[in-house]
Amino acid sequence: NLRAEVISIGDEMTSGARLDTNAQWLSRRLGELGIEVEFHTTVGDTLQHNIDVFRIAARRADVVVATGGLGPTRDDLTRQAIAAAAEVPLEFRASALEHIEKLFSKRNREMPERNKIQAMFPVGSEQVFNPQGTAPGIDLEIISPDHRCRVFALPGVPAEMVRMFDDTVAPRLLSMTGGQANHIEHHVMKFFGIGESDMEQRLGEMIARDRTPRVGITVSAATISLRITAIDSSRQACLDQIESTRHEILSRVGELHFGDGEEFEQFHAVDRQLRERGESLVTAEFGRAALLGDWFASLGETPGYRGGVSFADIDALTELLLAGQDQPLETLRERFKASWLLAVDGYPSLEGTSDAPLPAAEVDLIVIDPSGKRSVTTSRIGGHPSIIQARIAKAALAWLRH
Ligand code: ATP
Ligand code: MG
Repeated sequence: NLRAEVISIGDEMTSGARLDTNAQWLSRRLGELGIEVEFHTTVGDTLQHNIDVFRIAARRADVVVATGGLGPTRDDLTRQAIAAAAEVPLEFRASALEHIEKLFSKRNREMPERNKIQAMFPVGSEQVFNPQGTAPGIDLEIISPDHRCRVFALPGVPAEMVRMFDDTVAPRLLSMTGGQANHIEHHVMKFFGIGESDMEQRLGEMIARDRTPRVGITVSAATISLRITAIDSSRQACLDQIESTRHEILSRVGELHFGDGEEFEQFHAVDRQLRERGESLVTAEFGRAALLGDWFASLGETPGYRGGVSFADIDALTELLLAGQDQPLETLRERFKASWLLAVDGYPSLEGTSDAPLPAAEVDLIVIDPSGKRSVTTSRIGGHPSIIQARIAKAALAWLRH
């Protein structure tokens, strides 16, 4: 079993100006590949410190993934540090320079002289292609008399790092570990309406670390993501593994599943369903947030969403907009010419709340369906101030879809 070390390089991390999210992301991915991460090292932009860090890592790890310090500026020292730790010189690679020059000319910009440094590579290293930015990554084996360590250096920019890891580093790591099994496929399933520990319980042995394919669980603002990682000898074999695991998961927690894909949220599912049925929605949000309006607006123009209103409370809606109506929500649905209405009454004020979770409070979730039938549920929803409003809005979407 390979043991890994993740190295994060940059003064912005050591000074506390920026949180090291790359290390978290990389550790998850390495874990999915069956590679155990034993160390996280963070180091500032000082050459000697970087050399020390790479020397130490090359002795104690089989795989090192480093991010940051590959840019063209003087504080970007990763390539020099790796070359020094491996005791090899840097050499110029014409193909890398070509890629960098092309990128600049595509953007109609002259390449600054200093970007040439990004075409310098430690002797014996391979490049890691960077489809999104100028800095190619480095892939070098550091060999000492009794140990070999494969070092990958990627840019610090999270989006570039992610893409390069998935496209190039992961397949190379698999060919180190897996022999024939050198294809990898991921699939993400999304769930709402259950806590993480209940989810774990219902999935049982499916989320065991040694199961194949591996199923990882993460939670973000009450939405649970299950990530299936299949490693096999062909793409089709991976997809088959994913399909059968997906089925097994659905048989256990299918009623809570609302869609698939890393970025797929409940409001996407609602929007899709509305469009499929040729129906539409209006939202009414009361209290101190208006997340539904925000989310649906982020979809741009969609026939599924007619718009929404946000007021301090229902009385304010009636007073300001619908004077004389004793059924303000039904009137709202008619005026917006929407098939459905979804109302949240209401979001709590977070003013003066500390960082502690808020106690559960009652929230009315109201749906009026295309026939005019009204269904109301009263939910008790609490949670940390940073997620409580999202949890309420998501509970409303779940009520709409029920
Ligand atoms: P560039 O070519 O863009 O200069 P680089 O390899 O030199 O790339 P850095 O300059 O170190 O990378 O970082 C680029 C950006 O990525 C910065 O905004 C930085 O804050 C962010 N970043 C770097 N490392 C991390 C990390 N470990 N976690 C999260 N963000 C990071
Ligand atoms: Mg930089």
